[in-house]
Parts: sequence; C-alpha cells; structure tokens
Amino acid sequence: MPHWFNNACYPGTGQSRSEVTNPATGEVTAHLALADQADVDAVVAAAAAAFPAWRDTSLANRTRILFAFRELLNARSAELAAIITAEHGKVLSDALGEVSRGQEVVEFACGMPHLLKGAFSENASTQVDVHSVRQPLGVVGIISPFNFPAMVPMWFFPIAIAAGNTVVVKPSEKVPTAALWIAELWKEAGLPAGVFNVLNGDKVAVDGLLTHPDVASVSFVGSTPIARYVYETGTAHGKRVQALGGAKNHMLVLPDADLDLAADQAVNAGYGSAGERCMAISAVVAVGDIGDELVAKIKQRTIGLRTGDGTRGCDMGPLVTAAARHRVAGYIDAGEAAGAELVVDGRAVQADADGAGFFVGPTLFDHVTTEMSIYTDEIFGPVLSVLRVDSYADGVRLINANPYGNGTAIFTNDGGAARRFGNEVEVGMIGINVPVPVPMAYYSFGGWKSSLFGDSHAHGAEGVHFFTRAKVITSRWLDPSHGGLNLGFPQNT
Ligand code: NAD
Repeated sequence: MPHWFNNACYPGTGQSRSEVTNPATGEVTAHLALADQADVDAVVAAAAAAFPAWRDTSLANRTRILFAFRELLNARSAELAAIITAEHGKVLSDALGEVSRGQEVVEFACGMPHLLKGAFSENASTQVDVHSVRQPLGVVGIISPFNFPAMVPMWFFPIAIAAGNTVVVKPSEKVPTAALWIAELWKEAGLPAGVFNVLNGDKVAVDGLLTHPDVASVSFVGSTPIARYVYETGTAHGKRVQALGGAKNHMLVLPDADLDLAADQAVNAGYGSAGERCMAISAVVAVGDIGDELVAKIKQRTIGLRTGDGTRGCDMGPLVTAAARHRVAGYIDAGEAAGAELVVDGRAVQADADGAGFFVGPTLFDHVTTEMSIYTDEIFGPVLSVLRVDSYADGVRLINANPYGNGTAIFTNDGGAARRFGNEVEVGMIGINVPVPVPMAYYSFGGWKSSLFGDSHAHGAEGVHFFTRAKVITSRWLDPSHGGLNLGFPQNT
C-alpha cells in the first residue's frame, strides 16, 4: 500500500513494510510501505510546490471544492465506514457515526470566507487606516492515531485546506486505507495536485515531518508520551504544534441521578468502539450509597451485549491488534490480582466472528481504588471500573488529582451541582448527563493537563487560529496636504 502525492499513488523508496490486519478475523489484509527520509522529502516537496498557487486561489474557488468534497463524502460515506470497520474493527454504525462527526468539520470549513474576515479601522490616526488579515502557514503536517482513521484527520485538514494551506497526513500504520480513500475523493472534488498528501509510516515519517524545514506546523493526536515528544521536538524545530494525548475519563454519578440513564450511558460510553475512544468513560465514580444499585444495573446491561465482527450487527467489535488484546487482558489480570471485584469478565468472550479475531468482551470491575493499574493507566479497551466515594467533593478531588483532563461527565438532576462541577473540574470537555461530550465542529476539541500539549485545541475558532497567522497592515494614502520629515516615534494624532 503506497503513499499519495500530486494526486497519484507513490510507491516510495522506503524498504520497510508493516502488516495491516482485519481485527475481526486476524487476517493480514495488506502490507504498508513505511516512508524513509527520501519519501518524507518527496511528499513535503510536492506540498510545498503546491502552496503558492493554492494560497492565492480565491476563497470562492477554495470553498467550492470543499462543498464538492462534502457532497461526495455524503454520497459515499458507507464506503468509508466499511473501510474503517475492516481495519479498525469498530461496528459499522459506529464507523458511520465517526464519518458524520468528521463531516461536521468539513461543513464548518465551508464557511471559511466568513471565518477569515479580518478587522478594519478607518482613520485610526488622521487619514491612516488599519486592517488585519489571517494568512495560511504553508505545509502543515497531521499525524493521527488508529482509533479514528477518518474523523481525527478531519478535525484538521478541512480547516487547513480551506484556509489555504497544503497538507501532509501521516495516518496510523494500523489503519492507512481511509486516508488514501479520502485522497481519491479530494481529487474527484477537484482539489489541485499537491494540496492533500498522504505519507505512510512510523517514527521515521513522524520525525521527518517534525524536523523538516518546509513543514510549518504539526497537529498530532495519539498517546501522551508520544504527544509530549512530538510537542517538544516540533517546537524545538520552530514549528507551531498542537499535540493531543491520552485520557482517563470519569463519570461522576450523584445520589439523585436517574440511575437507569446513568447505567445506560456508562455502558454506551465505556464499551462503544471497544473502549478505544479518547472520550470513552473508563472510571465510574459512584457517590454515597448508590454503588451496589448502580453496579447491578451496569452489570445487567453489560452481560446482554453482543461482541463480534463489526459487519454482523453486533454491539461491540474487536480490539485493533493482537498486541492490544494481550495488553487489555493483562490489565484485567492485574485488576483481579490487585483485589478489585471482577463483576463481568470479558477475557473468554464468545465472539460472533470467523477466524482468530482480537476480541475482549465488555469487562466490569467494582471496588476499584486509585492505586490499581486499571485506574492509573489508560487501558484503551472495554474495561469499566467503578470507584466509590462518600461525597461530591471527594469525587471532584479524585478527578482533579488524575494527570489526564480530556473529558468527564456528571450525572445528576441537581442543576446547582452540575453548574458547580462545570466550574470546578479541571478537564477540557464536560458532559452534564451526556457521557461523551465531544464538542460540535464550531466549538473546539481538546483536553487539559497531560491530554494536550500546546495552546490550541482542534477545530472551531481555535482550529482556524492554529492554521493561520495574523498580519496587521497600517496604511496611509497621501494627499497633497501631508508630508515633511519627522524622526520621532510615530504617535497617533
Ligand atoms: P500512538 O501514540 O501509538 O500513535 C499515534 C501516532 O504516532 C501514529 O501515527 C503513530 O504512527 C505515531 N507514533 C507511534 N509511535 C511513535 C514514536 N515512537 N515516535 C513518533 N511517532 C510515533 O497512539 P495510538 O495507539 O494510535 O492511538 C491511541 C491513543 O491516542 C490513545 O492514547 C488515545 O487516548 C489517544 N487519542 C487521543 C485523542 C484526543 O483527542 N486527545 C483522540 C484520539 C486518540
């Protein structure tokens, strides 16, 4: 499987290959060419060559192509969803949901002419006008994780392209086909060669982008250690960097909450996409004496879930690789050994699939404590932990003590408690009776603390800001009454 630049596939010169698998069957479905430095240089050179003409393409013509892309994606979203299910494993309905959340960013970016409007001050000083513009950066790199092969790159590239940048996407090597399919769609939509490019690879490709003199910015999404590395390396090489990292998301359930709603949402947000979402709920924090009743309700829902091949109408699919399966099963072993109560054990799940897929069934632990590795670590699998605290204040303290700050949710019918939670909790995205509070495209997505490095969140106003830089232009058109020398510092008169 190749790279893509100048609106065509490019086999590359790199000799390394990695295997792409179908996680539901365990079959190897493709071998992916991993970039070497020459491949990085070739793809970046194509993007750099395309930049001047794309930057100077009118807003009307740029957004016309975005609208065409939107229409094509709407018509063919099922194809993209099938690709995602075949490489990631998530069930088809979930894959379609992913595509539609990415599509929202395309729709937001279709409004770029409005979003790029600057300010104008007439006569700021006598007969001196001032106006501001925002201009594109140049070649921008986008490095994405395996868990959202379409949506995460789409958090960035529609805005980057609409703003006049040219793009190099480096997809996760586990799920490369979605980005190549999207590249074909851009071509069909009329995007000029070199504006959207795909560089497949591993650390070599990432390092190549982070250090390349012609790459202006890097948008990264992945695990926290790599996000920190990307931020430090990219900024050390003079780049603008936004690096979104891992997560450990808590759901605080107050005694007055509707426990059936809370149990439904804990199951949806804990096991959806097999827990491989950065906004998955992994820790349910039960306040007061509701623990037993809440756990019983979650258990009853959990044991009814069907795990299997995502194309067969199951509730939950496999994990992405055999290594991920092994890691998640290891955490379940560790939780049991540490003394947590294993209420539902997914290790021996009977999956509805052919072959040797990478399945772990929905797993529920109760009486989890903050020292256990099933609490401290991001498991990124279908493992839900219930912790118990005495009070709202203890719950907030527990959440704020966690190094991650991506998403969190409170379940309550008390408006005052919900409002206080929104004010006090040190997390970037908060749900009130909503378990996966992923903001709409016209707001910005991003966490706090170890969940994001850099100061710009993704999409919304912050996305537009990230992919553009500001200029302020002060102008005077002389009339015959002005002139003469004055060497003093200019003052406004
Ligand atoms: P990952 O960190 O392993 O990989 C992410 C990207 O980094 C991939 O493109 C990969 O090729 C590259 N990479 C891997 N190792 C590298 C290295 N040593 N040096 C340089 N680049 C390297 O993450 P993943 O397993 O693909 O995705 C899951 C992680 O992503 C989870 O931690 C999840 O929370 C996080 N995530 C975060 C968000 C968010 O918005 N904060 C969204 C989605 C996923």
